[in-house]
Amino acid sequence: MKITRELIEKLPKTDLHLHLDGSVRLETLIELARDGGVVLPSYTVEGLKQTVFKENYKDLDDYLRGFGYTCSVMRQKENIQRISYELAVDNQREGVRYIEVRFAPQLHAGGEMTLSDTIVAVNNGLDRARREFNSSEAVVSGAEPQFEYGIITCAMRYFNRHFSDYFNDIVSVHSYSPEDKIFGLASLEVVGAAVQAKREMGLPVVGVDLAGPEKGNPPIHHREAYMLAQRNFLNKTVHAGEAYGPESIFQAITELGADRIGHGTSLFKPETITDTSIHNTDRYVNDLVQFIANRRITVEVCLTSNMQTDPELVRLEDHPFRKMMDNKLSCSICTDNRTVSHTTVTDEVYKAVNAFDLSLNEVKTLMVYGFKRSFFPRDYKEKRSYVRKCMDYFEKVVADQDSL
Ligand SMILES: [Zn+2]
Repeated sequence: MKITRELIEKLPKTDLHLHLDGSVRLETLIELARDGGVVLPSYTVEGLKQTVFKENYKDLDDYLRGFGYTCSVMRQKENIQRISYELAVDNQREGVRYIEVRFAPQLHAGGEMTLSDTIVAVNNGLDRARREFNSSEAVVSGAEPQFEYGIITCAMRYFNRHFSDYFNDIVSVHSYSPEDKIFGLASLEVVGAAVQAKREMGLPVVGVDLAGPEKGNPPIHHREAYMLAQRNFLNKTVHAGEAYGPESIFQAITELGADRIGHGTSLFKPETITDTSIHNTDRYVNDLVQFIANRRITVEVCLTSNMQTDPELVRLEDHPFRKMMDNKLSCSICTDNRTVSHTTVTDEVYKAVNAFDLSLNEVKTLMVYGFKRSFFPRDYKEKRSYVRKCMDYFEKVVADQDSL
């Protein structure tokens, strides 16, 4: 059976690695920038695609430029709520049934807006989209699985006073403390806000993440924050092995207890190991791969984003995704940033199918991992029946296609 883009669009999908500020609709960005007096390099969608949100980027800095613009319209509750709502709707329209939206509350807080306010605003937007979708005839009748979501709060490996009003305040009041200590303290605060939102307010905050430049900013600075998350039953994911070698992935797992790894692109790069006490680097990498496989630590694979930011990746076929699959790692296909990366979940799966010649069975396995390894916000029993429902629906879509 030929796996077409149309078929993929109909299949129930997930996105476990999805940044809110990288996935703002450009029309919305323009409108909110106009209303808020924010200066953009262009006020047309085409103009923004040519100047900032491009198909290809020079390097990571070029890629990151867009976030400055999106974040500048995400300092009001109503705007954050609207952007979150639209993100969920965009996913629903292409058959995505489960998303985990991540964002760094500290990039949006400041002045009147607390960390908690930002989480509430994101939840309000997502919840509205969820309720609307789930009241449709197809879902109510049980013919199709419902839409669900979780929220992941991101801590930052690095920041400075220019990142946001909140970060400016935190740096200012700790003028005599070493940088690393301030990074760790900021993470502790954001995890504290996540714990409060989950435990006291009952919001579907399901996990924490660590984002930002890996090199020179080791995870150990954030250990206390991750242990606080663990003590409060929050799941843990970490951006690791995106721009730095296997050791970064090892540290994310052993020092922060990561349940999932964001990217993991440099997992199979023994040549990038810097620890001089490791002589047999090939064996080290293999041990690490087996460790990840055995513990079912899931890799959140973001193909397009990796192609755009890793200058060493020239052809998609050279992406380590195939090696991950061959080693039976638990992988899930994710977008990272829908707007900044110019992509959708359907696009990502379609690209993977073509570049790695995936069979329908392999596509199914990837979808199953997406649902199973999600940090589903409710009871395990409910999660199991939801996963079952989504996979039954997968089979139904395939059977319908077959009978055409
Ligand atoms: Zn990411």
